[in-house]
This record gives sequence, C-alpha cells and structure tokens, in this order.
Amino acid sequence: MLDCVAIYCDMEGVAGISVWDQVNGGSPQYEEGRRLYTGEVNAAVRACKKAGVKRIVVVDGHGAGGQWSFKSFLPELLEPGAEYVFSHRWARYVEPFQTGCDAVLFLGAHAMAGTPDGVLCHTVSTEGWHNAWVSGTLVGESGILAALCGSWDVPVAFVSGDEATCREVRELLGPEITQAVVKWSIHRYAIRTLSHKDACDLIEAKVIEALTRRTFALPFKPEPPVEFRVEITNPDKMSAFLRRPGVVQDGRCLVVTGPSFWEVWDSFWWEV
Ligand SMILES: [Zn+2]
Repeated sequence: MLDCVAIYCDMEGVAGISVWDQVNGGSPQYEEGRRLYTGEVNAAVRACKKAGVKRIVVVDGHGAGGQWSFKSFLPELLEPGAEYVFSHRWARYVEPFQTGCDAVLFLGAHAMAGTPDGVLCHTVSTEGWHNAWVSGTLVGESGILAALCGSWDVPVAFVSGDEATCREVRELLGPEITQAVVKWSIHRYAIRTLSHKDACDLIEAKVIEALTRRTFALPFKPEPPVEFRVEITNPDKMSAFLRRPGVVQDGRCLVVTGPSFWEVWDSFWWEV
C-alpha cells in the first residue's frame, strides 16, 4: 500500500494542446485547454485510487498568467478523493516530501527549451531562460522538479506528455520511468495527438502499472555541493536574481551552489 503519491501537473503536455492560446489565461481557447487538462488529471487520480494510494496530492504547476496562474483545474469537475493545490508558486510546494511521499507523477509535462521536436518546449520562462543545468546535467522543468523530489529521496514514477518529453525524462532518470506518450510533434506548434478519451485511458492504465510494479527509478540526487546554473537571455533579467543570497553571475549565466538542490533552489527561486 502506498501512503502518499504527489502528482505535479503542467498543461503544455496534455493531448490536444498545441498552441499558447490553449494554455494562457484569458484567451478564448483557454477554457478548452482547462477541460482537457482537468480530464487528464482526473485520469491520474482515478489510477492512484485504484492502486490503493491513501493520500493523493495534486499540484497545478502551470503558470497560465495573472490570477489564472497555478489554478487552471476546473474545480467543479475534479475527481473526488484527492487534495488539490491551487495558486502556489511553481516548484515550491514541498509539504508532501516533508511529511512523507512514496512517489511523484509528472502529468502533462513539456520538453526543455530548444528541443527540436518538443511541443511548446521551454524552461520556466520562454522569454527569459535558455539552458539550465543541475550539477552539470542539462535539465528542463521535469529535471528541476525531479531534483526537488530527490532532495527528499522521493522517486519519480511516471511521466505523461509528448514523445520528446517522455524521452527527456527517461534519459535523465532511467528506463524504470513509466511513460504515457499522448502526442507527437510535427513542429513546436503542430501535433499528431491521441483523442482526449484515449489519452485519459492510457494515463490511467500506465499510472496503475507504475504504482503496482513499484520498481521506481532512483531519485535524482546529485552529490553535494549541488550547483544550479541557468543561462539568461538578457542582462536586465538578471538583476532581481543577483540580489538573492548566494546567487552570482558567470558570463551569461546565474549560478548558485549549496549542500542540496532544495537549499540551492530555495535561495534562487523565491516565494512571491
Ligand atoms: Zn505550463
């Protein structure tokens, strides 16, 4: 029996989503994107329930803009039996890790900035960031989240998204990651996709498989000291970060070093 599973969700990797208008709050197509997103989240929650997970914590990790950020799930449609975290700044909700979490699932993930076949690919900020590294390993958002989980020795068990994202996560964490590829890139804003229903069925089946098989990849936990390095597009985007403790500039990059990824991230990526 698994006591707790956390589901970290993003919107760009959901089946049927191919353009920014489907994921940006206030755009007419955003409501369609929210329905598709909520449906896939529900499929993952149903799977956790069927696998006997006692506590399911679901975190909305999609910055939709303004008051929509990190609250794109449609509350009235959410699957009962889980806790849902709304409006919490990206990659800072660590309560399940502090209290005890058996595994994390990545739902709707997207590939890192610059991935040729990555649908809507980016790393944190489309305009502000290029490459990012954790102790020398090139990472996207999934790698940053995996390092966050790894700070508490929590493994990642599953990823859903486009083919490029699933490949990226398996290359980083190993073949034990169970994947659900729900779409394929034609280019950054064009896709070949499963239907919503087929994507939900695949996610449900694969999450059940991952949680019952229980051979998770090892947590992503680089040896200390841990370095986070990010290449910033524009010098004027650096100044706010350089006021934070321990953050230094190295050419085009911001760099911060510490004893664990969480301590590094906690000095770099502040709550606002
Ligand atoms: Zn997103």
